[in-house]
Amino acid sequence: MSALLPASGMLRARRVLALADGVAGDALWWEDGTIRGVGRATDIEREAPRDIPRYDLPDALVTPGFVDGHTHFAMWALGRRRVQLTGSATRAEAVSRVAAARPVAGWVRGLGWDANGWRDAPDRYALDAVQAGPVYLDSLDVHAAWVNTAALRAAGIDRRTADPFGGRIVRDANGEPTGLLLERAVNLVARILPEPPAALLDEALRGAQVEAHRLGVTGIHDVEDEGALAGFRRLEARGELELRVLFQPPVATLTDLVRRRVRSGDGTEWLTIGGVKMFLDGSLGSRTAWMLEPYEGSRDRGMPITGEAEAGEAMRLAAANGIAATVHAIGDAAVRRALDLMSDLPRALVPHRIEHFQCVHPLDLDRAAASGIVVSMQPAHLLTDIPLVDRHWGGRGRGAYAFRSLLRRRTPMVFGSDVPVASLDPREGVFAALERRGFDGAPAGGWRPEEKLGFAEVVQAYTSAAAHAGGLAHRRGALAAGQDADLVAWAVDPAAERGEGEAFRAARAALTVVGGRVVMRR
Ligand SMILES: [Zn+2]
Repeated sequence: MSALLPASGMLRARRVLALADGVAGDALWWEDGTIRGVGRATDIEREAPRDIPRYDLPDALVTPGFVDGHTHFAMWALGRRRVQLTGSATRAEAVSRVAAARPVAGWVRGLGWDANGWRDAPDRYALDAVQAGPVYLDSLDVHAAWVNTAALRAAGIDRRTADPFGGRIVRDANGEPTGLLLERAVNLVARILPEPPAALLDEALRGAQVEAHRLGVTGIHDVEDEGALAGFRRLEARGELELRVLFQPPVATLTDLVRRRVRSGDGTEWLTIGGVKMFLDGSLGSRTAWMLEPYEGSRDRGMPITGEAEAGEAMRLAAANGIAATVHAIGDAAVRRALDLMSDLPRALVPHRIEHFQCVHPLDLDRAAASGIVVSMQPAHLLTDIPLVDRHWGGRGRGAYAFRSLLRRRTPMVFGSDVPVASLDPREGVFAALERRGFDGAPAGGWRPEEKLGFAEVVQAYTSAAAHAGGLAHRRGALAAGQDADLVAWAVDPAAERGEGEAFRAARAALTVVGGRVVMRR
């Protein structure tokens, strides 16, 4: 259907935020998926062919299409069809939602639980009481899983099973697994979960793509496994993929990628291969982020979850074969190790990058900028992390979500959501980066407000910086002649452009264009 729509058009708006030197105006036109001109409406009206569709949105702000710099898109797409545990205030509430679920391929799957604030810890017996078959529930930060007895049995986990490196099987006083699995122990059960049938995944991806367009998202930097990649490829083969995907495969597939001579930057106009994804540490929420000094009031520094030699070897093998490194590092020790290992790596066609970069030691800021490594951050996480950072990291919070400090040093910085950990909706991330306070207004004036960004800087982190991070700055991320026509017209109060977060939070994407085609209009 969409393939029959023209990939040409002209759009008149209030203002075009072009993000290209010397380009400004209130109108633009494009042909066969490529932008031909940006400027004053009277000029563009004369330039554009008479027979292309006209879109008149005199109040709208036009930006390049938003790219979400960190997604688990297929996981989210499938998760939208699973038991939703986000917002369960108690264990009992979560269990009652699980009780109502019916298994798919023998398993009940759910996601989004967060036991911070629960009186009762997640345990398998609570789930056994409501489901006889296996149950597998991802935590909100996806760094823990809560399973029942049938799932433990199916995975062959009992009191004699040793903790894997970088993970923990939580046990009771008698040494029996409780059903809570942390970090790498999650894989003991995750690896036996049935793959979703291809038709189910494809349908889920199509539905999620519609939602992305509704939110003004025209591209994603996805970190997932080969199953997701196969799904995107099937959509592309049928002409149904209308989202630019930078796909970052797991490091477990590295030797296979090398054998098949796959390189970062390979791909099509829709699907590009990025760097291999590897983990150096855990997360703040589960206090597994690896810190240089102990967490406040504790002797625990979190933990590295990949050894230095192993991580370095993988990065060098990848780089020697033209494959970039995409490295998860949250604590300041993990960030420092990432910089140690990555700063001198040979470059690939796609830049190396560090995901999350939530806490950086001040002494590492300059070399992070000098390294050319892209930092990929999720501003909306800040909204939930503020109290955790204060409690667990204290004064080290100065280096947490240090947007302004990074940008002042010209560090390439992309923004994303980490969906399904947070919402795909980029308005939440824009709000967080502009305001650095919760939706409830606290703390007044913003948390460490010296790190706030301006509107155009935030938009760049979602657009031009994302194009750079994908090795595609020559084609995307700006609105200028010769660039791909990926753009969004926002119905938004101009106060947003002066940095008022609430104004952008109330905005709506009115028109979304990908590859010159209008994929969403309202
Ligand atoms: Zn993630």
